Amino acid sequence: MKKTTITLFALAIMMVGCKKTNSEIQYNVDRFYDLEVLRYNVPDFDQLTLQQKKLVYYLSEAALQGRDILYDQNCKFNLPIRRALESIYINYPDKNDPQYLLMEKYLKRIWFSNGIHHHYSEDKFLPEFTEEWLRSAWQYVDPETTQVYDHCVNNLVPVMFDPQLLNKKVNQADGVDLLLTSACNYYQDVTQKEAEAYYAAHRDNSAEPLWNGLNAQLVKKDGVLQERTYKVGGLYGAALEKVVYWLEKAKEEAENDQQRLVIQKLIEFNKTGDLKTFNEYAIAWVGDLDSRVDFINGFTEVYGDPLGITGAWESMVNFKNLEATKRTKILADNAQWFEDNSPTDKAYKKEQVKGVSAKVINAAILGGDCYPSTPIGINLPNANWIRKEYGSKSVTIENITDAYAKAAEGNGFNEEFMLSAEEIELNRKYGVITDNCHTDLHECLGHGSGKLLPGVTKDDLKEHGSTIEEARADLFGLYYIADPKMVELGIMPDKEAYKAEYYRQMMNGAMTQLVRIEPGKDIEEAHMRNRQLIANWVLAHVNPEAPEVEIVAVPVANEKNSHDTPAEVKHFMKVNDYEGLRNLYGQLLAIIQEVTSTGNYQMAKELVETYAVKVDIDLHREMLERYKKLDLAPYKGFVNPVYTPVVDRDGNITDIKVDYTEGYVEQHLRYSRDYSPLPTWN
Ligand code: ZN
Repeated sequence: MKKTTITLFALAIMMVGCKKTNSEIQYNVDRFYDLEVLRYNVPDFDQLTLQQKKLVYYLSEAALQGRDILYDQNCKFNLPIRRALESIYINYPDKNDPQYLLMEKYLKRIWFSNGIHHHYSEDKFLPEFTEEWLRSAWQYVDPETTQVYDHCVNNLVPVMFDPQLLNKKVNQADGVDLLLTSACNYYQDVTQKEAEAYYAAHRDNSAEPLWNGLNAQLVKKDGVLQERTYKVGGLYGAALEKVVYWLEKAKEEAENDQQRLVIQKLIEFNKTGDLKTFNEYAIAWVGDLDSRVDFINGFTEVYGDPLGITGAWESMVNFKNLEATKRTKILADNAQWFEDNSPTDKAYKKEQVKGVSAKVINAAILGGDCYPSTPIGINLPNANWIRKEYGSKSVTIENITDAYAKAAEGNGFNEEFMLSAEEIELNRKYGVITDNCHTDLHECLGHGSGKLLPGVTKDDLKEHGSTIEEARADLFGLYYIADPKMVELGIMPDKEAYKAEYYRQMMNGAMTQLVRIEPGKDIEEAHMRNRQLIANWVLAHVNPEAPEVEIVAVPVANEKNSHDTPAEVKHFMKVNDYEGLRNLYGQLLAIIQEVTSTGNYQMAKELVETYAVKVDIDLHREMLERYKKLDLAPYKGFVNPVYTPVVDRDGNITDIKVDYTEGYVEQHLRYSRDYSPLPTWN
C-alpha cells in the first residue's frame, strides 16, 4: 500500500528546519501537459560503505530491468507503440517539423505514464499530431530494434487515435464488465464473471494462504481459463532473467544473513513463480530490520488490476535516513498505546500489535510502478496474514518529500487557495513536519492497526477495498496527529502544529485535489476517493448550528467590477473548531474500522458512492479556473540519478559515483536502449 503525493503539491514555501541542500541540483527538469518532471537528491549516499554502495548499484540495475513489464501490464499495445515512436524520434530527419514536436510531447507523456493511459486518471490520452503524419513517418521505424513492422501501423494507429478504443486503463464504473472494458493486460478474453469464479475457486483458505493470481495473466485458450505465470521461462521471462542476474550480484554484497535470505528467496521466486516462495520472501523481508539498504522489487500493488488480484511490477531501492528514523521508531515503540486508545470499537482492535517497524528512507532509484511518478510512503507486505503474524515494514521517503517541497517553493498555491494569512503561516511553519508526520502515522500505524473479525477477508470489500483501506490509514493519522501524546513523545513541536495538516486535508480533500480531475469526470483513483470521502463526510456531519468546518464564499475585490456586475466570489475552506474537527475524524475512523473489520461491502459501497466519487460541478470548475491561473502542473514525477561504478585496473569496483544531470528525454531513451529485454509482443 502506498501513500501518494497528493497533499504535497499544496506545499509552497515551507522549508523550515530542513536538511542541507545540494545547491548544484536542478530540481525542476521538464514540464508538459499536466505533468512536471523533478529531480531528487540522494543525501548521505557518500556516507555508505563501499559494500553498501555496490549493493545499491546492483539493486538499482535490477530495478531498471523490469521497466518493460509494467508497460505491457498496463496495456499490450504500450511496448509496440513506445518502441515505434522512439525509433521515429531518433531517426526522423526534420527535428523541427511541428508534427514531430507534437509527437515528442506525446512520447514524453507515454514515458511518464508507462503507456498510453494517463497514470492517474487512467484515461487514454490522444496524440495531437495527425494520423497521416504518423503513417508517413512510419518509414523511419527501425524494425530490427523495435520488432514493429510495416503492417503494424494499421493495428497501432486506431489504438492511439480512436477515442473509444481501449479508452480506460482500469474501469471501475458500476454495472459493466470491468475486465472487458479495461485496457490493462492482466486478463485476455476473460469476462469479469469468469475471472471472479476462477479466482474464487482458487482462493486459498488455509492459515498461510497463497496469493493466487498475484503473478499471472489470466487468459482463455480453447475455451479454458489458464494462468500465464510471470517467471523466468514464463511470461516476462526475458526481463525477470535480467532482474535475477543483478539480484545474484546484489546477494554477494548483502549486509547480513537475513538480507541475503531475502534476496535469495526473491531470486527463487522469480525463477519458479512459486507463491509459497513468495510468502517466504515476504516474511524474510519483514524480518530484515537491521540492514541500512533495503529494496522492493517485484509484483506488488494491485490497484492496476480491476479485480485487485494481480500485482504491477515495481521497484524502489533505498537506504535508511538515520536521523529521521528516530522519529518513526518512537511511533513504532508506542504502537500498542495508539491501538488501545483509538476511537474504534474494542472488538476491532488488535490485542497485540506485532512488529510494526517504520523508518524514514532516502530513495536511491525508482523503477516500474514507482517511476516516474512515485509514492512518498510505502507499507508492505500486502498479505494480511503476514502483516498479522509477522508485522509489516513501513517507510516514509524523505528525499522525495523534500524534492516536492523544494520544487514548489513560492509557487503561489497556498496564497491562492488558503483562506487567510493565518492558514498560510500555519503551513509555512508546520507544513513539512506535519506532512511527514502524517505519512509516518498513516504508514507505520494506520495500515497496521485494527483487525478483521474471523471469516472476514480483505477481498470482502471488493472494488471499494482500496479506498476504504486508505481512508482508514489516513483517518488514523489525522486522529492521532492532534493527540497531546504526539507532543509528549517529542514528535510534534507543539499543540498548534496539527492544525496545518487538518486545514490542508479538508482543503485538499474537498476542493483543491479536484484540479487533477478533468471537467465532467468522476474521481476514480483510490487515494483521491479516500480524501474526498473523508472531507465530504465531515462536511455532511458538522453541527448545523455551529459548523466545526465549512466551505465559505468570499467576495473578491476586483477593480474591473463596476457596480452593476456582481462581484467575483471565491470559495475557501474554513475551520472554526479544530478540536471538533478531530472529533469528526474520530467518528468516521470508528465507522470505517467497523466496515473493514466486518467486511461490510454494502456500507463500504454506500460511503464511497455517497462521498467519494461524484464531484461538485461548480466547485470543480472554480478550482480548475483558479488553478489554471497559477500555471502549475498538478502531477509530478522524477528522473533518477545515474550510478556509475569506478573500476580499478584489475576490474574491481572501488566506488560508485552518482550523477544528477541526466535529462528526462535522455534518461528514457537510455532506459529503452539499455534496459529493454522484453519482446515487443508478449
Ligand atoms: Zn496507504
